[in-house]
Amino acid sequence: MSDRAIRSVAIIGAGPVGCALATLLRRQGLTVDVFERRPESAGGGSGHSFNLTLTSRGLDCLPRSVKRRLYLQGAVLTKRIIHHRDGAISTQPYGTADAHHLVSIPRRVLQDLLRDQALRSGAEIHYERACVDVDTARPAVLLRDRDGATSWVEADLVVGCDGANSAVREAIAAKHPGELLVTSETIAHGHAEITMDYADADPTGMHLWPRGDHFLQAQPNRDRTFTTSLFRPLDGDARSPRFAGLGSPDAVADYCATEFPDVFDRMAGVERDLAGRRPGRLRIVTCAPYHHGRVVLVGDAAHAVVPFFGQGVNCSFEDTATLAALVEKARFTAGAHAGDTAGAVVAEYSDIRVRAGHALAELSLRNLEELSDRVDSSSFLARRALERRLHEVHPDLFTPLYQLVAFTTMSYDTAQRVHAELSAALDEVCAGRDPVAERDAIIGDFARLYGGAGSRASHAC
Ligand SMILES: Cc1cc2nc3c(=O)[nH]c(=O)nc-3n(C[C@H](O)[C@H](O)[C@H](O)COP(=O)(O)OP(=O)(O)OC[C@H]3O[C@@H](n4cnc5c(N)ncnc54)[C@H](O)[C@@H]3O)c2cc1C
Repeated sequence: MSDRAIRSVAIIGAGPVGCALATLLRRQGLTVDVFERRPESAGGGSGHSFNLTLTSRGLDCLPRSVKRRLYLQGAVLTKRIIHHRDGAISTQPYGTADAHHLVSIPRRVLQDLLRDQALRSGAEIHYERACVDVDTARPAVLLRDRDGATSWVEADLVVGCDGANSAVREAIAAKHPGELLVTSETIAHGHAEITMDYADADPTGMHLWPRGDHFLQAQPNRDRTFTTSLFRPLDGDARSPRFAGLGSPDAVADYCATEFPDVFDRMAGVERDLAGRRPGRLRIVTCAPYHHGRVVLVGDAAHAVVPFFGQGVNCSFEDTATLAALVEKARFTAGAHAGDTAGAVVAEYSDIRVRAGHALAELSLRNLEELSDRVDSSSFLARRALERRLHEVHPDLFTPLYQLVAFTTMSYDTAQRVHAELSAALDEVCAGRDPVAERDAIIGDFARLYGGAGSRASHAC
């Protein structure tokens, strides 16, 4: 291997993650070329229309100017608004401080902001150049253009930001069997967007209709429209999945009138939305390590998670910040890596991020049950209220899981472990007691038992 610092980077994929990384690396003065399979008119990104929610974990990894524009163009959500079966409505704050909110943004808006920022920073985006192979040692990427012609492009570092079906990941796995452990699972639930006229609803919360093994979600936009999605189990074969039991327009109308009577008359066209179109499938892809030679995977290419924690792109932006910081650090420790700066950087990145990605995959899948079923149950609500109060009174002793995941920089795996310990401790204190009637006594006992220095609970942030 030649002795060289990282001066040039080839990024595969001009989705939100490829564009965000391009900006961070350009700011260090590196030469950055981004190669995107789709034509310029299609922009980048997966092509889906759904909204994304960003939290401080991801937002704080973006350039300040992008963050400012996201707040101008997005909707700030401070709570879940639960529409119960009996018609009652309840709310659950996302956290305990003003900073504990989501920014809901149409995917296209996020994509355009990040692409414009990358171009302004001096990155070059080359459209209609699809990655079809990689050489991890040189490193280099084989690109096919619109006419089918192929050519190798070399750089000091190659980064795969080409999404859940990553060609970079597949090429590495195929050429180096057993060296990249990849798993891919399609879950039973699918999703579809429903057109719903809901303009008079509260625009500061995520509206949810939990209904057992499925749920409806209406996510506010800045212009007071809502992006509404149904998440529900699928049947049929993999190539033409259907929502189970919703094969005909009549079945769809019956279902919606029964399950969501409060908003059924606002869903003009729901029969077409649910019976006439194929629902989207949801996949979990895990991979370890995230690198081979001088090629590295970032974003969904490394870890595609189901969207039930709303953290996929937040985690991906954290990837970009981690990788950019390691590249920068390497510039100041030149010579320390025996000639393979890029190899050392991507190995360290992988070490840090693989555990986080795997933990997020688990947390996200577990949250499906919470959104479909548990947010509707009185015992769940009582426990969450107790946890919130405990955090308000003793913020150094206990932090609710949602807050740890969405609003801190604690790595997802640490958040998962810390919360499991805290939750078990709280279970012990709560055993046989009523969390509503005995709330203050439980909190007092928890603080007495776990408040000492070095106790399990004092690991919380
Ligand atoms: C229904 C749903 C809802 C979601 N909601 C949220 C949410 O609320 N909050 C959140 O944080 N996350 C959410 N996510 C996750 C989020 O969408 C992803 O984490 C994010 O899009 C990942 O971005 P990416 O740039 O890595 O990949 P992508 O957006 O898939 O972009 C990949 C890019 O690479 C290009 N490409 C692909 N193959 C090649 C190739 N061979 N050569 C060149 N270019 C190529 C593609 O054209 C595309 O432009 C959701 C996901 C789903 C499915």
